[in-house]
Amino acid sequence: MFSGDSGPEVARLVASRVADVPDFPKPGILFKDLSPLFGDGPLFRAVVDEIIAYHGAGSFDVVAGIEARGFVLAAAIAYATERGVVPIRKAGKLPRAVHSAAYDLEYGQATLEVHTDALVEGSRVLVVDDVLATGGTAGAALDLITRAGGVVSGFSVVLELGFLDGRERLAPRPVHALLTV
Ligand code: AMP
Repeated sequence: MFSGDSGPEVARLVASRVADVPDFPKPGILFKDLSPLFGDGPLFRAVVDEIIAYHGAGSFDVVAGIEARGFVLAAAIAYATERGVVPIRKAGKLPRAVHSAAYDLEYGQATLEVHTDALVEGSRVLVVDDVLATGGTAGAALDLITRAGGVVSGFSVVLELGFLDGRERLAPRPVHALLTV
C-alpha cells in the first residue's frame, strides 16, 4: 500500500518512477532519484496538477523552487497558474544583495540564499522541492522567505522520508507530499 497526501493511486504512480540509489552521495544514504518521474511527460504533468489542486491556485501569489530539482517543479507550477518563480539558490549564485541561511542536511551542511528584493511584502509563497528529508532545507527556505517579506502559504514535495519527521519543523504550514515512504 502506497501512501501520500494526494491518495494511494498517485503515491503508487510516483513510486513507480523513483529510482533508489544506495550510498549516494555518501555511504548509508539511500538517494531518491526523481529523474524517471521528471522524464515521464504524463506523470510529470499529473504531479504538477496535483500540487496545484492540493493547495488551490488562489492560495499563493508566487512559487519558490529550491535549487536545483525544485526549479523543475516550480517553473511548471508557475506557468500553469500564471505566477512568478523565485529561485532559492545555493550560496554564491545570486548576483545582488541576498539573505543567507545555513542549515544541516541529511548528508552534510549547506547555505541557501534569496535576493533581498525577491518578494513583494506580504506575498504568499508556495515552496516546492523534490524530496523532504530532515526538513532543514525547507526550514531554511521558510526563514529566507520570511526575512524577504513573504508569507509561506504551503510546501509541496514529490517524496517525503516520513521517518525523518521533516514536516514537523514546518508546522503549522500545510505540507503536501505525493508519496511518503
Ligand atoms: P533535508 O534538508 O534533510 O530535508 O533534505 C532535503 C534536500 O536534500 C532536498 O533538496 C533533496 O533534494 C535533498 N535530499 C535529502 N535527502 C535526500 C535523499 N535521500 N534522496 C534525494 N534527495 C535528498
